[in-house]
Amino acid sequence: MGVRVAVVGAGIGGLVLAAGLQRDGHDVRVHERRADAGALGAGLTLSGNAFAALDAIGLGERVRAVTGAGVAGLRAGQRRPSGRWMTTLPPAAVASLRSVHRADLHRALLDALRDGTLRTGAAASVSPDGAPVLRTPGGAEEFDLVVAADGLRSSSRSALGLDTGLRRAGYLAWRGVTAGALDVGGQAGETWGRGQRFGVVPLPDGRVYWFATAAAPPGPADGAADDLDALRERFGTWHDPVPACLAATPPGAVLRHDVHDLRRPLRSFVVDRTVLLGDAAHAMTPDLGQGAGQAIEDAATLVVLLRGARGGGDLRPALARYDRDRRRRTSRVARRSRSVGAVGQLAHPLAVAVRDAALSATPGPVLARAAEPLQRWAPPRPAG
Ligand SMILES: Cc1cc2nc3c(=O)[nH]c(=O)nc-3n(C[C@H](O)[C@H](O)[C@H](O)COP(=O)(O)OP(=O)(O)OC[C@H]3O[C@@H](n4cnc5c(N)ncnc54)[C@H](O)[C@@H]3O)c2cc1C
Repeated sequence: MGVRVAVVGAGIGGLVLAAGLQRDGHDVRVHERRADAGALGAGLTLSGNAFAALDAIGLGERVRAVTGAGVAGLRAGQRRPSGRWMTTLPPAAVASLRSVHRADLHRALLDALRDGTLRTGAAASVSPDGAPVLRTPGGAEEFDLVVAADGLRSSSRSALGLDTGLRRAGYLAWRGVTAGALDVGGQAGETWGRGQRFGVVPLPDGRVYWFATAAAPPGPADGAADDLDALRERFGTWHDPVPACLAATPPGAVLRHDVHDLRRPLRSFVVDRTVLLGDAAHAMTPDLGQGAGQAIEDAATLVVLLRGARGGGDLRPALARYDRDRRRRTSRVARRSRSVGAVGQLAHPLAVAVRDAALSATPGPVLARAAEPLQRWAPPRPAG
């Protein structure tokens, strides 16, 4: 008999973990506090590292079936608001990048779970001492392992005494998807202006996922916001297809988030037999498009390390290895993501001129080489 695992949170990290563990014969239960475990609608990009991790646990083909080529085959890189290119990435650098609508990814992952795995509509809480006991309104239940994948504002992280606090990145991010197919003219990627950015990524069905950032007051709350008029004011004079993306997005379909990451990396992802995973462990800014990718790497690492483990067995070597490997990798990615965001959000005209000149002078292959370690992942060898 495999390990009995409770997962808190049916986000991308929790679902990949649960599906991967089940394929290996473990007994998994997922608790999601929302009544509907589907995702809010916007896009997502996944790089080669995420697919290497999904392949290692037998989920790669299922996810590839709902993803599209992203920006592969298009001219991609960074532009100025006028549309002038600063950098063009070599095709090989974006070949492994794929795009997906979040709702489609969630559905594909939910479909991978056995019937009865998911319990929705009630929050679950972990034991503060890390004992593998999960509390829900239905009572307390003991497992072999509890994995908290409960996101950016993880209550598990604080219950375990690991929280270092969230910090604002200093900008808001808006995301939307056009109502129908939109021609991006063979060009995609990001456009960097003064203190604001806009990104364009085609989805598999021809609709376009777009994102925008700007330093602005957070507003009443994160989440859905009808900010289209304000966005048109900010980005309406930018090059095609930026205004077209906004024009093709239905009112009320824009998501807005005040971007945060963790103030400092956590000192541990593991307390006894309770493990943190995904944003709960290493919330990072979205500037490298790696938050979900890192959650997927976490999940695959844990699945691989638990291969052959039995209920009641000693999980400590596997959990120690998970803790060490994942903290090292994710702290680097989070640091780099924040730095890229800081450069992307520069607003002073002089700083922007220097940034743009430096970007324009850097050959695409050099930028691609710098991104290469991010897009690579290899499974750990199972703990002995
Ligand atoms: C603007 C923006 C753009 C992004 N773009 C990308 C991108 O292109 N590529 C990429 O890889 N990443 C991207 N990310 C990051 C990515 O969205 C996250 O890193 C990823 O979704 C985290 O997944 P998760 O499973 O750890 O957490 P979440 O997706 O937050 O899931 C946590 C789940 O836990 C549930 N939950 C919380 N508390 C409890 C509880 N007590 N009991 C039960 N359930 C609970 C929540 O309801 C939720 O369903 C982006 C993020 C932002 C903000």
